[in-house]
Amino acid sequence: MVTRTIDLRSDTVTKPTEAMRTAMATAEVDDDVLGSDPTAQVFLTEMAKLMGKDAALFVPSGTMGNLISVLVHCEVRGSEVILGDNSHIHIYENGGISTIGGVHPKTVKNNPDGTMDIDQIVAAIRHPEGELYYPTTRLICLENTHANCGGRCISAEYTDKVGEVAKQHGLKLHIDGARIFNAAVALGVPVHRLVQAADSVSVCLSKGLGAPIGSVIVGSKIFITKAKRLRKTLGGGMRQIGVLCAAACVALRDNVSKLEDDHRKAKFFAEGLNQIKHLSVDSSSVETNMVFFTVMESSHLSPERLCQALENYGILALTAGSRSVRLVLHYQISDSDVQYALTCIKQAVEQILTNGATK
Ligand SMILES: *Cc1c(COP(=O)(O)O)cnc(C)c1O
Repeated sequence: MVTRTIDLRSDTVTKPTEAMRTAMATAEVDDDVLGSDPTAQVFLTEMAKLMGKDAALFVPSGTMGNLISVLVHCEVRGSEVILGDNSHIHIYENGGISTIGGVHPKTVKNNPDGTMDIDQIVAAIRHPEGELYYPTTRLICLENTHANCGGRCISAEYTDKVGEVAKQHGLKLHIDGARIFNAAVALGVPVHRLVQAADSVSVCLSKGLGAPIGSVIVGSKIFITKAKRLRKTLGGGMRQIGVLCAAACVALRDNVSKLEDDHRKAKFFAEGLNQIKHLSVDSSSVETNMVFFTVMESSHLSPERLCQALENYGILALTAGSRSVRLVLHYQISDSDVQYALTCIKQAVEQILTNGATK
């Protein structure tokens, strides 16, 4: 029987703290669709200021935040957005920008560090004035940290360069900043500086920040006015969101400062994994709270098999691609949890190989 569960599937599994639950229980609330929820106003003002933008909007999920942002920037059907081939928007959001927004994706290869080559971005831009065949590029999307690239950080300098390209070509820049606070902490750069070149940013509250529900999008006043209308269209206008924003306020106050420790634990985890036979991690690629480790090609061991075996130990993890397993750290995973998980992983690998050999 499993007595201890360590959930490393995602930082979305963080549970609200006592302080959050108390804040939720006592939050002053009103109707946010009518624009009069006081707790939402306090939170959104704070968020806009932190991000260095004019205004902010609460949305139910990061997926809706990205969808609304892309649709606001690409109002005309048949617009094209340039985005990474390994980006969350392209891979994990049901193609919503196309199916709902009529926006065409033009993918550019993501480098292992989550960036796209600037010259490839430039080459992907299409300006079909007076031309019969091509959609018109209106937007570039970046992702920071880049989830599928292992939580790598995109620097302010690189973001500025992409912003320059966007400006030169009359395009907008959106950042999927689901984990932008992780990037800011890891790079030691204020979050507003990191997104300075962006016209809009989407931020998840329910990942490493630890709030139970919600995301925020930020941008200019006009952007947010249009976004609010789209949010209503998509059914994302919620009424007394002060209950959720109260938890988010506590997340900002208490949890941003804990992200650095998540990153330290991730590095420690990576080093531990490198001590286990048949597993390997490029430690230098562990920049934030994610660890993607490779399960070396051998007859019996596979990421699926390892994850299955780990479940029996109460260790939950997800596979990532055909040879890797993804682990995500967060502030509710302790140093002792990391130690214990490493011990279980080592045992699970040995067990699989022993059983495999005797079969
Ligand atoms: C989680 C995530 C999202 C989407 O957030 P949901 O709230 O799950 O819809 C978007 N982008 C990135 C990079 C994410 O990690």
